[in-house]
Amino acid sequence: MTCDFLALAVPGVQKLFPYVPGKPVDELARELDLDPAGIVKLASNENPLGPSPRVLEALRGELAELTRYPDGSGYLLKARLAERCGVATAQITLGNGSNDILDLVARAWLAPGFNAVFSEHAFAVYPISTQAVGAEGRAVPAKDYGHDLEAMLAAIDTDTRVVFLANPNNPTGTWFGPDALERFLARVPAQVLVVLDEAYIEYASGDDLPDGLRYLARYPNLLVSRTFSKAYGLAALRVGYAVSAPEVAAVLNRVRQPFNVNSLALAAACAALEDAAYLAEGRRINDAGMAQLEAGLSGLDLSWIPSKGNFIAVDFGRDAAPINAALLREGVIVRPVAGYGMPTFLRVSIGLPEENARFLAALQKVLASV
Ligand SMILES: *Cc1c(COP(=O)(O)O)cnc(C)c1O
Repeated sequence: MTCDFLALAVPGVQKLFPYVPGKPVDELARELDLDPAGIVKLASNENPLGPSPRVLEALRGELAELTRYPDGSGYLLKARLAERCGVATAQITLGNGSNDILDLVARAWLAPGFNAVFSEHAFAVYPISTQAVGAEGRAVPAKDYGHDLEAMLAAIDTDTRVVFLANPNNPTGTWFGPDALERFLARVPAQVLVVLDEAYIEYASGDDLPDGLRYLARYPNLLVSRTFSKAYGLAALRVGYAVSAPEVAAVLNRVRQPFNVNSLALAAACAALEDAAYLAEGRRINDAGMAQLEAGLSGLDLSWIPSKGNFIAVDFGRDAAPINAALLREGVIVRPVAGYGMPTFLRVSIGLPEENARFLAALQKVLASV
């Protein structure tokens, strides 16, 4: 007789649903018998430029060492990041993607009886990591799809151990400014760890977006998490990092798996940090693509949430599922966000000019028929 292993799982896990990633190109090709080469994927906020040549070169240099364990301390990458961020090496924690950092935070500070505060429509990993360790996730209603920082402060109680903030947020693209962040940090109780997720910070431009690193010296309960998955173009390799007070990093290192970042990822991240031209080109492509999409969407009389990320959430004002299905039949993969409480929206990642044009043309065709 087989056991009911779901019933045996810890209570938080019983209530979890798996994270739904963007549909892979090959999966759609199989399902609809399409040519993978003709499919456009704008579903996972990936860098459309492809990998940097300097990263590829660094990877080749690393291949001969594949039989060895990676440097478990990530010495070189941490040293480079510390220099770049203007902090001590002891303030950096490396993660298997920044999702790993979020998970480490949950394992270190959350448990049944405690809670984590985050915003409605915020990144799905916050509730998943929180529930997986049996803690309570408090989703605070959003304001104009963005974080309502005042309401989030009000949701904090004596059992709150962590607040997750995404700036800009995924999937909405919304952001808050330096003054709002400062007011928030000044009022959060000192024992609550504030995780400021800046996965898109390298794309974000303008003085109206704070650089979380500038607040670390004054707020020892602040942790800034960043990633190589987006602007640095290394999503497949899984590498991200936290910058925090050394005391916070020391706790994360207690729960971190010894070799959580592999040697290819370490080498690639070091090379990516040196490739300023790649980052600049990515930003240029993103700015141009955002303008292209906004112009196209406005031509189709559609509305969207202004975004500082490499993606844009489009509001169709009706159930977006049939529109998504029709786009898939056109070989265009975007991201449904009904699971984020946004059933009338689709999230579209900014692609290369021709990919954006493919999306807009497919959308125009689809809207005439569904
Ligand atoms: C994409 C994304 C991440 C990055 O995840 P990785 O594990 O580093 O690939 C983190 N936070 C948000 C809000 C994201 O959208």
